[in-house]
Amino acid sequence: MTEKLYYTTPFMTSCEATVLSCEKTAEGCIVTLDRSIIFPEGGGQPADHGTIDGIRILDAHEKDGVIYHTCAAPVEVGSRCRVELDIARRLDHSEQHTGEHILSGVAHNLCGAQNVGFHMAADYCTIDLDVFLDEDALSNLEAEANNAVRRNLPVTAEHMNHERLAQINLRKKSDIKSDDIRVVFIGGGEIDSCTCCGTHCASTGEVGYIRISDSQKYKGGTRIWFACGSRAVNAANELTRSVTAMARSYSTSREELPAAVRKQSDELNSAKRDLKARTQALCDLIAANDARKIAITTIDGFGANDVKMLSESLVSHNARVALVFGIKDGCTCYRALRADGESAPMNELVKAVNALVNGKGGGSPAFAQGSAASRITPEIIGSLENFVEKWFQGNN
Ligand SMILES: [Zn+2]
Repeated sequence: MTEKLYYTTPFMTSCEATVLSCEKTAEGCIVTLDRSIIFPEGGGQPADHGTIDGIRILDAHEKDGVIYHTCAAPVEVGSRCRVELDIARRLDHSEQHTGEHILSGVAHNLCGAQNVGFHMAADYCTIDLDVFLDEDALSNLEAEANNAVRRNLPVTAEHMNHERLAQINLRKKSDIKSDDIRVVFIGGGEIDSCTCCGTHCASTGEVGYIRISDSQKYKGGTRIWFACGSRAVNAANELTRSVTAMARSYSTSREELPAAVRKQSDELNSAKRDLKARTQALCDLIAANDARKIAITTIDGFGANDVKMLSESLVSHNARVALVFGIKDGCTCYRALRADGESAPMNELVKAVNALVNGKGGGSPAFAQGSAASRITPEIIGSLENFVEKWFQGNN
C-alpha cells in the first residue's frame, strides 16, 4: 500500500519518499514509492503530473492501494527521492472537480436532478443530469452555484465505514463495497455530500467562478459544458475578445451586435431573393432567344441551382433537350433536361458527359446532373457539342 499524502495532507506540493520498485515497460518506467503526493487517475479526474528526482511523471494509476507512477526514465530502487507536484495541473483539476460537486449539489437541491455522468478533459468538462433544464433553469443553476462560491464554504473529506455512511444524507447512493469510504462535503453537506476519491479546493471560494458555456438535451436529461476557476476566466475573456472583434467588424458596440447581425441577415435574405428573381429573368431572356431544339449552353458564374433554372427555362421555351454547363469557382456543374414527350435518356447523356469531362453524377431518364472538379474550356465544350448532337440523333 502507498501512503496517500494527497488525502492526509492534501495541499503538500513536494515530499521525500523511498523507491520500492521500478519496472521498465513500453509506456515508461513504472515506479512505486512508500508514500506519494501524486493523485492517480480516478473518479473522472485525470492523474497528477510532477517529477521524481527531476524525472517526469507522465501518468499515475492505482491498483489495490498501490500507486503506480509512469515515469520518463528509471529511478534507483531503495533510494530516497524527492517527489514534486505539477501544482498548476493539480489546481486546475481541483477547481474543475470542486465546481462539479457544487453544480451537481445545487442541481440536486434545486430540482432533484441526479448527476449521471462526469467527464474532465484537458480543455472541457461535462456533467450529465437526468433532468432536462431549459435556459432559465441553467441560468438559475449557474447563479446559485456562484452564490455557493461567493459564500466561501468549507470543502471537507471524511473517511468512514458503512455504519457511519448510513447516517449521512448522500446526494447519490454509494455502491462502494469497501469499509473505507471517502465522503466529500461542500458546506458541511448543505450544498453537497458525495462519495469521491478526487482532489478538491479547501473552500468553495477557491473555485473563483463557475461558468456554464453550453448545454444540450441528452438521454432525456441535460449535458452541461462548464469550466471553473482560471479555465472559466480564460474562456470568458476569449469570448469577450471574439465578440469585440466581431462588433468592430460591424462598426458597432458589443451591445448592439445582435441587432446588427439580424439586420445584415435580413439584408442578405432580401438580396438572395432579388438575385433569384433576376437570374430567373436572365434565364427566360436567354431561353426566349435560343431557337435550338438541342440547346447546349455554357454560362460563367452559374452554380447548380442556376443551371437547373436555365435548363427548365430552355425546355419551357424552344428546346426539346437542354444541356447546361455552369462554371463557378473553378468547377463545372451540368444538368440535362428533356421536354415532355422526348425519349432520349438524360441519365445516359450525363453518364457520357461524365466520361468526357472526368465528372461525377447521375439521375433519371427525365433529368440528370453532374459536376467536374475543373473548369471546362471552350475547346472541350466545342467537342462536347459535336458529341452531344451525334449522340442525341442516335438516341432519339
Ligand atoms: Zn470530488
